[in-house]
Amino acid sequence: LADRRGGLPGSADERTGIDAAAAFCFGDDGVIAELLGCASATAEFLDRWAQPGDLGSHTWEERFGEGEYLPLAERAVEDVLKATGLTMAEVGAVVVAGPNARAVKSAASSLRKQADLAPDPADLTSLVGNGGTASLGLALADALDTAGADDVILALSLADGADAMLLRTTDLLATRRPAPIRDSLGDGMVVGYPTYLMWRGLLSREGPRRPHPVRPSAPFSARDIPYKFAFVGGRCRQCSTVQFPLPDVCLRCQARNSCDPISGAGAIGTIATYTVDRLAYSPNPPLVSAVIDLEVGGRVTVEVADIPIDSLEVGLEVKMTFRRLMTADGVHNYFWKAGPR
Ligand SMILES: [Zn+2]
Repeated sequence: LADRRGGLPGSADERTGIDAAAAFCFGDDGVIAELLGCASATAEFLDRWAQPGDLGSHTWEERFGEGEYLPLAERAVEDVLKATGLTMAEVGAVVVAGPNARAVKSAASSLRKQADLAPDPADLTSLVGNGGTASLGLALADALDTAGADDVILALSLADGADAMLLRTTDLLATRRPAPIRDSLGDGMVVGYPTYLMWRGLLSREGPRRPHPVRPSAPFSARDIPYKFAFVGGRCRQCSTVQFPLPDVCLRCQARNSCDPISGAGAIGTIATYTVDRLAYSPNPPLVSAVIDLEVGGRVTVEVADIPIDSLEVGLEVKMTFRRLMTADGVHNYFWKAGPR
C-alpha cells in the first residue's frame, strides 16, 4: 500500500498529507496474524472529488462526510463480527484510517469504547499525518508492533465506504517483528517550503549550467537489474574481495566467475572521502558524491542524500538507501545513495 498525498497550497490536505508505504507478505505458514474475516458497506455520496491530473482533491464539509461514514462503519463492523462470531469485548486493538479525519476519529473512539479499550493518546496519524492509501497499513503495522500473541485486531478503512477486517495475531509475532515504526519517528529532517514545492514539481529551479542529464538506458537497466534494484555485488571465493557490481573477473586475483552474490541494499558504511559538486545535476543541489566503505566489504562511489553538508565528515556512518537520481524525458531513474545511518 503506497500513496503520495498532497493538496492545494495552504490546504489541510497539504498540511497533513504525507508520502507513505506499508508492505505485508501473505502466506499460509508461519504467519504473524491470520485474517478471521472481512466485511464492507458502501453508499453513494459526494465527499471528496478530483479530476484526473488535478493538483489536489476537493472535499465537502467534513461533518457531512462524518455523518455518512459512521453508519457505514457501524454496518461493516457489525457484519464482520457476525461473520466471525466474535464480539467487541474480544477485540484487543482498533485501527481506523481514512481521508476524513473527523469520521476516523469518531469511529475509532466509539469502537474503542465498545471494546473497553483506553483512548489512544497519540495515534500514528496524529504523529505523522495522513498517508492516504497507506494509512491503514501503517496503522496496522503500528498495532502489530505492540500486540501480543492471540490478540484480535479490528482494522477499519473509511474511504468511499467502509471495509472492516478482523485479524488474530499468532505466537510467531514476537519473533518476526521488524523494527517498530515509531522508532523511526525522529529520523526526519526539516525541509523548507520552497524545496518541498520543487520536489513536488510545483516550482522549477534553475538547472545547473551544464547539459541536462540524459534519460537512463533501458537496456543497461534491464541487464543490471540485480545491481540497480538490490545493489548486488560479489565476494570472490578465491581471495574474499568484495566488489560492486558483481564482476565476471575478480579485480584483485583475476579469477573468472569466482564471485558469489552479496547485497549492499540497506548496508551500513562509512564515508572514506567526499566532494561537494555545485555544477553537477541533482534533484537537491549541490550534489554530494562520496566514496563509501561498506561493512559487507567493498568500496562504492555514490551520491549522498539527506545529510546536511556541514555534518559531512570522513568516517561518518551512512546507510545505503534507494532514491531517485533524476528524471529525464519523463523517465525516473532510481539508484542507491548514502543516507543517514
Ligand atoms: Zn579474487
